[in-house]
Amino acid sequence: MTVTKVPFVDLKAQIEPFMDEIDKAISNVVQNTAFILGGNVSRFEENFAAFTTAKYAIGVDNGTSALELALRALNIGPGDEVITAANTFIATVLAISYNGATPILVDCDPVTHTIDVEAAKKAITPKTKAIIPVHLYGHPADMDPILELAKQHNLVVVEDACQAHGATYKGRPAGTMGDAAAFSFYPAKNLGAFGDAGMVTTGDEQVAETIRILRNVGQSKKYHHDLLGYNHRIDSLQAAILDVKLKHLAGWNEARRKAAALYNELLAGSGVIVPETADYAVPVWHLYVIRVNQRDALIDFLSERNIGAGIHYPIPIHLQPAYAHLGLKAGAFPVTETIASQLVSLPMFETITAEQIEYVVDAVREFMTANDVEPLA
Ligand SMILES: *Cc1c(COP(=O)(O)O)cnc(C)c1O
Repeated sequence: MTVTKVPFVDLKAQIEPFMDEIDKAISNVVQNTAFILGGNVSRFEENFAAFTTAKYAIGVDNGTSALELALRALNIGPGDEVITAANTFIATVLAISYNGATPILVDCDPVTHTIDVEAAKKAITPKTKAIIPVHLYGHPADMDPILELAKQHNLVVVEDACQAHGATYKGRPAGTMGDAAAFSFYPAKNLGAFGDAGMVTTGDEQVAETIRILRNVGQSKKYHHDLLGYNHRIDSLQAAILDVKLKHLAGWNEARRKAAALYNELLAGSGVIVPETADYAVPVWHLYVIRVNQRDALIDFLSERNIGAGIHYPIPIHLQPAYAHLGLKAGAFPVTETIASQLVSLPMFETITAEQIEYVVDAVREFMTANDVEPLA
């Protein structure tokens, strides 16, 4: 079949082969009216912990809450400074703000798009209490120097693994390297719910227990409220659905790696910068992000050929009105800002075919020639 369009993601194609199994899981929850916590949640937590090899996994209502509760359980609060990268998704930074702590943004590495460790080092003050490396696009941050820095300055490390389910760093899975980690099951993430859901992983029993209490209105047992908690529980229905999908995650990640390898091969010499994988990393390609001149024109061009594309993310955190109070101006983070004007996320999903990738690459190459675009690579 000749390809005439390629969506940005194709969730329908992902779930179609397993819909019977998922329907059964949903029906089971409904039949038992087991809507809040219970066996479906604890089962999924155990299975997700096993998948990541983390000791504990605690289901929450979304990835933003996972970050928020991880920081809270690690005693990050007012007066504390938390370092993260300016090119992340806003939720990383919101979670710092929700706890009353101060986000300290730093620039990113131009190759891996993860936090610039040297910049993080320079940003440390006596008030610094935590660092949040983001495994952006599914590529792990360079964790060893980050963990070393944290050890030297007595900082806690919370991995933002919301795009990195199954990625590894020197063989260690995302979600097992910091004091805690946050995962998102937003529908388009590598493991996605039929709505919102998230997870905290940790190796620390006390942190796990605190998060279990915090997510459930601060109660250690029914109507005994030890902490000023929240309602940040994962839906049991989502847990049941995610538990079915989890069995396929490793295969889906492998399919994404194959797709990324084919993109890289076919885009070589086209004048766009293709994503590189660091020696230490096995990424899971939540997104396949290239850099190109005349980015906006390329996205329009792709759209005319029925190709979905995105920008992750067009406006760095320090240039968002919500964070104007940080007092950072344009020019503060040159790498982040330059990259933000060049990023294009091409279609990337588990079931993307070689023909679909060829169709996208042909369009990119045609654009580069037709518009006489100055090559970046
Ligand atoms: C998706 C995402 C989040 C937030 O997850 P939600 O489930 O949407 O709240 C946080 N950080 C990063 C890097 C993400 O991609």
